[in-house]
Amino acid sequence: MASVPVLSFWEARRCVIEQVKGARRLPAIEKVDLEDAAGRVLAEDLHADRDYPPCDRSLRDGYALRAADTPGRLRVAGEVRAGAIFPRPLASGEAVEIMTGAPLPEGADAVAMREQVRADGEWITLETPVASNRWVEPRAAQAHRGQLLLAAGRRIGFVEIALLATLGRRRVSVYRRPRVAVLATGDEIVELDRTPLGHQVRNSNAWSLAAQIRRAGGTPELLPVAPDQLAATCELMARGLETDLLVISGGVSAGKYDLVEPAACALGAEFFFTGVEMQPGYPLVFGRARGTFFFGLPGNPVCTMVAFEVFARAALGLLGGEREPLLPILEAPLVAPFRHQPGVTRLAPARLVADGGAVMPLPWRGSGDIFSLVHADAFVIADADRECWQPGERMRVLLR
Ligand code: AMP
Ligand code: MG
Repeated sequence: MASVPVLSFWEARRCVIEQVKGARRLPAIEKVDLEDAAGRVLAEDLHADRDYPPCDRSLRDGYALRAADTPGRLRVAGEVRAGAIFPRPLASGEAVEIMTGAPLPEGADAVAMREQVRADGEWITLETPVASNRWVEPRAAQAHRGQLLLAAGRRIGFVEIALLATLGRRRVSVYRRPRVAVLATGDEIVELDRTPLGHQVRNSNAWSLAAQIRRAGGTPELLPVAPDQLAATCELMARGLETDLLVISGGVSAGKYDLVEPAACALGAEFFFTGVEMQPGYPLVFGRARGTFFFGLPGNPVCTMVAFEVFARAALGLLGGEREPLLPILEAPLVAPFRHQPGVTRLAPARLVADGGAVMPLPWRGSGDIFSLVHADAFVIADADRECWQPGERMRVLLR
């Protein structure tokens, strides 16, 4: 165990991504209806089924014409609107009234905006020349038939749904959701249907983890709470290792009854790190046993939640077929000073203000304080090598 490193925040994140990328096998593929596809990971490459747009079309309301006829006076031979086609080729000296999105009549090669022509009965006059292709979106300007539009490995959101609908796809191939075992540990932890005694704590971590796993595209499988005994912890961990990923809360500190590491050793685990220089979340274990990756997250609820978002979520995304997991980080100026004890990367609860134009760190009482965290919608990320930030200075912000 002595050789297992404590990593910096960013090193640990890189380590998770590299290890999982190096070892994963892509999940099985299943087909789902378009209405069930949001949140899933695309398991096929998407190609254009035809040219986009499928014909030359107008980008403005105005008149379709031959650029070579301008400037000059043209006869308006009719109209064409979106959803219709003009029935014959345009003759020299003619124009056709055209609406945005309508297909250009054969023979026309430009559009003059309505505002730029003088209309007089069935005649229009153009004082200046119109360039060929003006206000025309040529056929296939956006994509050629057969062109690769999106590669497998992308999580499907509403924009990807728009793409699938555009391609006429009512069904789509996605990766099977990874199964993620959740194991809460601790003699003091009781389930929600019991009234906790003064020295007991309700099991909130299993519930928050299950919600985080679902949001990240996995299927949570909750194991019974492990008591602080080696044999029972081993047995429950062994069950958890039969899924695609095991997430454990608690039992990873250096205390006499922190048994996750000893149990993992007994199960033949290899460890990639056993600590990360971050707060909340210092004792944090990432390893693999029996072919399955596992995380031992510190049991304090804020630690559990933050460590899941930063590390386990990336692993889960990759195991679910995602190509490149990304942390939702932006940068924003502070509206109040921020100070911390350097030496660790600190993720401190904060609130975005001014529609995300600035960020306000919130007071809180440490890594057990869910009550303050509910008022935060983000965390400011304080670098390990710096102590204070003044109002107006920019900090990285992790959205929750
Ligand atoms: P541990 O990491 O096992 O030392 O746990 C640290 C603290 O986190 C405990 O004293 C509990 O108060 C809290 N805790 C541990 N597990 C849970 C859980 N499943 N739900 C809520 N709080 C927990
Ligand atoms: Mg414990």
